Amino acid sequence: MIRIGAQVSVSGGFQQTIEEAHDMELRCLQIFSRSPVGGQSRGLPQPNQMAQWLAGAHIRPLFVHAPYFVNPAATDRAMHDRACQVLGEEMLRVKQLAGDFLVIHPGHRQAGAEENQARQAFAQTIVYLLSKPGRILIENTAGQGKEIGSDFEDLGIIFNIIGRSSRVGAMVDTAHAMAVGYPLKTTDDWHRLTDVLESTVGLARIRGIHLNDTVFPVGSRRDRHAALLTGDLGPGALKGILASAQQHQWPLILETPGKSARERANDIAILSDLI
Ligand SMILES: [Zn+2]
Repeated sequence: MIRIGAQVSVSGGFQQTIEEAHDMELRCLQIFSRSPVGGQSRGLPQPNQMAQWLAGAHIRPLFVHAPYFVNPAATDRAMHDRACQVLGEEMLRVKQLAGDFLVIHPGHRQAGAEENQARQAFAQTIVYLLSKPGRILIENTAGQGKEIGSDFEDLGIIFNIIGRSSRVGAMVDTAHAMAVGYPLKTTDDWHRLTDVLESTVGLARIRGIHLNDTVFPVGSRRDRHAALLTGDLGPGALKGILASAQQHQWPLILETPGKSARERANDIAILSDLI
């Protein structure tokens, strides 16, 4: 069975988010535990409460996306410490939310820092986070500005620096992959990308797919998600992705436009029809 889920806003509270996902027959879910751009963090339900709600709705895994307002690849000492502090707290919030994974973007190279210094700084952040309970997924980025971790060779190097850990895996975002220049029109395109993934990140590290189309063309290095099959993502590639999701038991998370699961009804229908 392929588990289809989506990023859903928690603005109406965590319980309402899970109810809405359940109403839309989602089988997995991604949330932000707090505003991704900063501000005061939101209060959390009691421990065990989330696990009960999720079990009642048959939703697993729960991915929690890390906030963006800190830079985990910062080479400046104070900024690096701040990222470790905020993301360390987030690991504990994921635990209280009965989440399965914290999903992190590698961040960006600061002015004056070499690519490899930024990678090392990010790897140090991850090693620090492993002093907390929980599991981490590192997501490929669209390569905007000075973002690191956009091509999979770069991500592979980052995983090598961190070293093997069963608590660190990968999240693959299809819109970001297209932004960096990997076409996803045909099934063959997808197979070529899975070959790249196998030789860099390793398929065994992958724990989920962010399944998104892209507004801007392949290679644009701009990060704007589009509804499925309205951009450069082709039906052939989409079928290939579904076959791989089935084979490897990769949950699929839609981050297509819209804040609620209902606003993704058409994307969910496209996937259900293909399945
Ligand atoms: Zn994503």
